[in-house]
Amino acid sequence: MKVLIVGGGGREHALAWACVNSPRVREVLVAPGNAGTESEPRVRNVPIAASDIPQLLELARREAVELTIIGPEAPLVAGIVDVFQAAGLRCFGPSQLSARLEGSKAFSKDFLQRHHIPTAAYRTFTRDSFDSAWVRAQRVPLVVKASGLAAGKGVIIAASVTEAEAAARAMFSGRFGDAGNEVVIEEFLTGEEASFIVMADGEHVLPLATSQDHKRLADGDAGPNTGGMGAYSPAPVVTGVIHERVMREVISPTIRALAQEGTPYTGFLYAGLMIGTDGAPRVLEFNCRFGDPEAQPILARLRTDLTTLCEAALERRLDRVTAQWDERAALGVVLASAGYPDSVRSGDVIHGLDAAAELSGKVLHGGTRRSGGRVLTDGGRVLCAVGLGAQVSAAQREAYALVERIEFEGMQYRRDIGYRAIERELADEAAHDGGRG
Ligand code: AMP
Repeated sequence: MKVLIVGGGGREHALAWACVNSPRVREVLVAPGNAGTESEPRVRNVPIAASDIPQLLELARREAVELTIIGPEAPLVAGIVDVFQAAGLRCFGPSQLSARLEGSKAFSKDFLQRHHIPTAAYRTFTRDSFDSAWVRAQRVPLVVKASGLAAGKGVIIAASVTEAEAAARAMFSGRFGDAGNEVVIEEFLTGEEASFIVMADGEHVLPLATSQDHKRLADGDAGPNTGGMGAYSPAPVVTGVIHERVMREVISPTIRALAQEGTPYTGFLYAGLMIGTDGAPRVLEFNCRFGDPEAQPILARLRTDLTTLCEAALERRLDRVTAQWDERAALGVVLASAGYPDSVRSGDVIHGLDAAAELSGKVLHGGTRRSGGRVLTDGGRVLCAVGLGAQVSAAQREAYALVERIEFEGMQYRRDIGYRAIERELADEAAHDGGRG
């Protein structure tokens, strides 16, 4: 079969890599793809932007594509799945109405509240309805969020009410474009963050392997928020008990409520969660697609054919399939370009990709392009070096061995991806040794 992956980042390289490993797949098209997808055997880049829905539809028809998987949120929120389905084409992702869970934080907070799904207390404002007296009466810190899509940048943690007010006013004045026409201001939650990603078919849910990402730019989870500087799977924070609670208290009620409201959800669903010290999960956000960089380590562990899982979802029989996972842990380290996450520099030559390819593990590309015989940086998050190992610590060693081979001007990366999981592993080992006396 022929598969089309829409998008051109690290997640899409991981999706294309997973699909092309399927014996059923003859060819994978990626629109627009990157230098990494271009160099995979049986993968072909097509220079069509992920936002160009008419051209993508035309491509899928012309090439007789049998399955399309949408990577990024923007085309989902713009309704690409509805367009493909109206044309009789199989396309994995949520409809435009379901994708509002990510496209509008105001919608998703109201949805959560309406269905008593745990989340931070909040209020939504427009410029006209903004109530500074309410803001001043809140406890700090406060979290100020542009409601619309802001490429992971529209969230500000305000340490004071003055800062919260200033952040909201900056959003109303267009700092994030139309995304800031509505602003959600919410309570600051404490605990440990976890990503919980599932596939849904409108009715049933198939949870993917657990994962955790690192959003902050600098070591020790310091510095500005980014799209994600690394991730690993499994995430020990999601114990069996927490997994069960998240399914029961968050995922199942969400899928059920969406169906009840007449907008059944098919696609990857990503819940960003805060796990309180009491083990209670609360929703920070929903994303209507696979996470990036979570897709890279999760798909590195997937042993079941991804195309069969997507097909099962499109045929509403996810309850009849299971996903097999590599027992090993996987860990991905993002290599970002100079200036990321603010002003991103592009066009730097990337060295060492061939040397890295000789090692075990896999370097997945994000913002890269080929020019002549060279691979250049072309975006904020350039590469994601993924290692595997018996434990997260071993996967981390393999990932950083890849990183050491790679170099480009201004390259930034964190040295501590996975540190929380590794601390847990060390504590477990110590307890084990202690137990042995
Ligand atoms: P979001 O895009 O809504 O997930 O927000 C991005 C990041 O901001 C999250 O990954 C958290 O680190 C942080 N964040 C968002 N909402 C809250 C909250 N209510 N309390 C604490 N941190 C938050």
